Amino acid sequence: MRTIALTGSASGIGAALRERLETAGDRVIGVDLGGAEIEADLSGAGGRRRAIDGVLSACGSRLDGLVACAGIGPQAKDHAAIVSINYFGAAEVLAGLRPALAAAAPSAAVAVSSNSATIVPTADGPLAEACLAGDEPRARQLASSVDGSTAYAASKLALARFVRRHATQADWAGAAVRLNAIAPGAVRTPLLEEGLDDPVLGQAIRGFPIPLGGFGEPPQIAEAIAFLLGPAASFCCGTVLYADGGSDALIRPDRY
Ligand code: NAD
Repeated sequence: MRTIALTGSASGIGAALRERLETAGDRVIGVDLGGAEIEADLSGAGGRRRAIDGVLSACGSRLDGLVACAGIGPQAKDHAAIVSINYFGAAEVLAGLRPALAAAAPSAAVAVSSNSATIVPTADGPLAEACLAGDEPRARQLASSVDGSTAYAASKLALARFVRRHATQADWAGAAVRLNAIAPGAVRTPLLEEGLDDPVLGQAIRGFPIPLGGFGEPPQIAEAIAFLLGPAASFCCGTVLYADGGSDALIRPDRY
């Protein structure tokens, strides 16, 4: 039986993944604000420590898999919280639990990024750089001065780059711990519904082109994450897997 830690396990994509993994016989250690084995707020250093320590104690410092899925959407009013949860919350949990993954290697971790990282034109810039530099106060300050879509997309771009920068290193690939990312498009979850309720963002989301014809459903993303976690993806390392109905390929076909 594999033991897999999963942040954001209580809702949406995380909840669908928990069901997918438990149905297959895995043990899931969920981390969320509530309704999970480990209740912790990943927006700050104390909550992240609590999450890491809680998982380490629950898994005996040996993890077969880890998924950093917790996040908030571009509609969140507190733009600083978007980078603190989506980037720093994910990056610190990945780094803090890496030794437990190495102890059970071969093992795998997946970070949940977004196709916003490459589709939103303002994603790349000082905010993503501040995230990758590990400068949370500066990132929070920069995030507070941009719109929610930019803060969200920058946090997800930085997370995908964190994955690509670390996946190939001695302490990840060299320790037989595969690190990959998934980039979902619009998926019908409470996070998306909140975005649809926002007057400006809602219109943009509804008008967004999706070649496969409509929003995704959480089990479709859960299936793709399960693939990246499992032996079928044993040669995938530093991959950013798009599961977005074709939006990214439609919008930037040749930027590859
Ligand atoms: P969701 O709101 O249904 O689930 C997110 C979960 O994260 C919730 O259970 C929530 O409690 C938890 N969470 C939020 N803030 C937290 C915090 N401070 N500490 C601990 N847990 C916290 O949303 P979802 O759509 O399932 O999103 C899951 C991931 O997928 C997010 O990272 C999101 O950015 C990403 N994503 C979603 C979409 C989409 O269209 N739904 C698209 C691309 C990427």
